[in-house]
Amino acid sequence: MLSNWTQAQRRIAAYFILLVLSGSSLIAAQGAPAPRDAVSLSPAVVEAGSPELIRVDAGSAVSVDGDWLGRKIEFFRRPNGHTWFALAGVDVEAPAGPSTLHVTAHAGDGQGADLSRTVDIHPAHYRTGSLTVAPKFVEPDAASLAQIKAEVELKAKIFSASAAEPLWSASFHAPVAAPSTGSFGTRRMFNGKLASIHKGMDFHAASGTPVHAANSGIVVLARPLYYEGNCVVIDHGLGFYTISMHLSRIDVKEGQKMTTGERIGLSGATGRVTGPHLHWAVRWRDAYLDPAKLLRLDLSPVR
Ligand SMILES: [Zn+2]
Repeated sequence: MLSNWTQAQRRIAAYFILLVLSGSSLIAAQGAPAPRDAVSLSPAVVEAGSPELIRVDAGSAVSVDGDWLGRKIEFFRRPNGHTWFALAGVDVEAPAGPSTLHVTAHAGDGQGADLSRTVDIHPAHYRTGSLTVAPKFVEPDAASLAQIKAEVELKAKIFSASAAEPLWSASFHAPVAAPSTGSFGTRRMFNGKLASIHKGMDFHAASGTPVHAANSGIVVLARPLYYEGNCVVIDHGLGFYTISMHLSRIDVKEGQKMTTGERIGLSGATGRVTGPHLHWAVRWRDAYLDPAKLLRLDLSPVR
């Protein structure tokens, strides 16, 4: 008889058996219990540095919010859509192990359903490397330190004022037509002294190669910075940003709206570099995510 059941029927039956076995402990304090798969993640295997498309099937909710590893998640749905989505992720430096993805679906009557679930974070295996740059980038002088401090404050301001709605649509595209290195997450020694983690992807682009917007958004920073060189930051909304560094030329202005594929400038070798390349970073809230994984993430289900 069981074989005649649909997958959905079997899932519902399994769920009720579980409910009976565990008594009332499955019933969330704030409302009706929800099946565990009301919240799903893509990619399903979560690693340190993974961008994640989180999907919540809570069609009757009027809003859905949450947080994960201390970062606030704002869910959205497209007009006439029934599924709630968020583009989020796990920082490259997140420790491996179980984490709680907190999700609450709010009903029109003020009731909230707790859809939280445990997400295991798997270690990603990043490499260690060393490189040599100009001494001023390892031991900046007093004037440079003041400049760096001002830029840290500027970036903090920009990264805390993301648009309140998603500005991206469909999947992200590579910003430049050039080969890349799998160097995201590499622990680096600069001139044998300063250790840092490489939080972006390097494209081997000759100076003057056109660099494009990976998705639609708003330019929130377009100016030269000490380490980043000529830098362009695009806000894709709800805390999600892409950052292009070391450009030889900037072709956009702060406040400018961008569509996918529009040119933002030309690649170069400005700032802390060993040679011409495009350093491209992906940031959600204060987490740095693996750009290669974002480029492989299919966002077409978001509609
Ligand atoms: Zn880089």
